[in-house]
Amino acid sequence: MNWDESCDVLVVGSGAGGLTGAYAAARAGLSTILIESSDRFGGTSAYSGGGMWFPGNAVLRRGGGDHDFASARAYYHEVVGNRTPRDLQDAYLDTGAELIEFLEEDPDLAFIVHPWPDYFGALPTASATGRHIAPAPLPAASLGALRNALRPTLGEERSGMPLADELVAGQALVGRFLLALSKRSHVDLQLNAALTQLVEEDGKVLGAVIRCPAGHKRVKAGKGVLIAAGGFDHDAAMRERFGVPGTVSGAMSPPSNDGAAIKAGMAAGGAVDLMDQAWWSPGLMRPDGRSTFTLGFDGGVFVDQDGQRFMNESMPYDRSGREIIARMEQDLLRLPFWLVYDNRDDGAPPIQFPNQPIGELDDYRAAGLLRSGATLPLLAAAIGVPAVALVATADRVNEQVACGIDDDFGRGAEPYDRVFTEGRLPMDRIDRAPFHAMAFGLSDLGTKGGLRTDRDARVLDSSGSPIAGLYAAGNSMAAVSGTAYPAGGNPIGSGMVFAYRAANHMACDPERQNT
Ligand SMILES: Cc1cc2nc3c(=O)[nH]c(=O)nc-3n(C[C@H](O)[C@H](O)[C@H](O)COP(=O)(O)OP(=O)(O)OC[C@H]3O[C@@H](n4cnc5c(N)ncnc54)[C@H](O)[C@@H]3O)c2cc1C
Repeated sequence: MNWDESCDVLVVGSGAGGLTGAYAAARAGLSTILIESSDRFGGTSAYSGGGMWFPGNAVLRRGGGDHDFASARAYYHEVVGNRTPRDLQDAYLDTGAELIEFLEEDPDLAFIVHPWPDYFGALPTASATGRHIAPAPLPAASLGALRNALRPTLGEERSGMPLADELVAGQALVGRFLLALSKRSHVDLQLNAALTQLVEEDGKVLGAVIRCPAGHKRVKAGKGVLIAAGGFDHDAAMRERFGVPGTVSGAMSPPSNDGAAIKAGMAAGGAVDLMDQAWWSPGLMRPDGRSTFTLGFDGGVFVDQDGQRFMNESMPYDRSGREIIARMEQDLLRLPFWLVYDNRDDGAPPIQFPNQPIGELDDYRAAGLLRSGATLPLLAAAIGVPAVALVATADRVNEQVACGIDDDFGRGAEPYDRVFTEGRLPMDRIDRAPFHAMAFGLSDLGTKGGLRTDRDARVLDSSGSPIAGLYAAGNSMAAVSGTAYPAGGNPIGSGMVFAYRAANHMACDPERQNT
């Protein structure tokens, strides 16, 4: 076999999963190449809040967070159920605290408590403050030349905001890993290098073919290849083939999350699971044609084509997304649906956390995505819903605000619902003219179906046997959380855990000690 380059561990993708895998492999003394197909490191993880759900970890213990591990385990088992193997679930639950202890030994990797309620707050085992931590902020200048290699935030990349001097959230997570990796020897971080194919022999993965600006090269990976290349969010054909609700226009990840690495894993015999699943959200329809992940509705109500409310607008975003999908599948909801609100904030929509600046409302108006009426019946005409129904919807909301209880949809009943309103009911009257409506569709934070793995992130074939030398983590792996999104910090937290477990497995796999 002719190889152009050689390493112990080849990591594909530079999100939280890939960076954790590369870092753990390098710290175990393995020579490591990390390839990133785009021109920036960080993937969706760089856009993210950087939250991590690791029950019982030392940061929670030190910072006074909820560190009751037994109830966290019971909570996770109950929410996820038996859709994924229990031993996979336990591998996530049992490894998070260990991973944080391991990472905190490095002064470049620091974390803080970030209270964030669990997403099924009605369960007795749910935590109202959460089991959630975040990276500590990091001065951008500490990255030196790597600063320009870090994928910017959504606001910086899509809305032209200036680059921040202080990195927080996902920026700090990716930045801290880049900083830590830059101080390790035997690590080679490569941009514009995309996995196109795995090289196999006798059922073992020996390395990969990589497309880079100079052409294609073959890289030998003595211990194994870790696919942590995100989901297949931007591959319209693959979405359609596997029946993922929503479209590419609602995908929040960078366009380079195109599923090519998952396909390479499938071509090498990897089985897949959960391929119709994503981490969903209501999506604010934008003038550029995107529908974007939006949370923190502290007023207004969603109405359907009949002018009626259909859900708790403040519930956790993936539960909202699943409600939207279920209603669409039953033909009860057509897109767009509308966020209806009044003029109490001079026409600004009651959205606390759009993830990317909303921009100029006039642009939405010009695109037909923001409509107004001097009265509710005029607004109803503008959005094509029955006037009587819209007036009745607003009257009902006003009654509920007066009583302080939404007894139709339970808005405000769970701690998460009130996280953006400092504990108050996240609703407001709809009675100040003029009235407004913004168009909404479906968005996703990434697909979550992918290569099936065991608890050490080894990719399994269709008979359930591990494929030697092939590992998967993050959104490239069939998610441990199955068809649920138990808590904020699950996508990144589980991605990091399985990448770490993969690296540890590669470091001590007896079958490949002398490769
Ligand atoms: C606004 C926002 C906020 C969020 N906040 C949180 C949060 O606080 N906590 C949380 O847990 N989750 C959060 N999420 C979800 C989370 O960001 C993603 O699920 C997670 O980052 C995915 O991580 P990953 O490592 O699997 O992939 P990614 O971070 O998407 O990285 C994958 C990388 O692989 C690269 N790649 C793709 N194909 C190839 C190839 N063939 N060869 C080489 N490289 C390739 C891509 O270019 C990309 O850079 C948020 C999402 C969004 C959009």
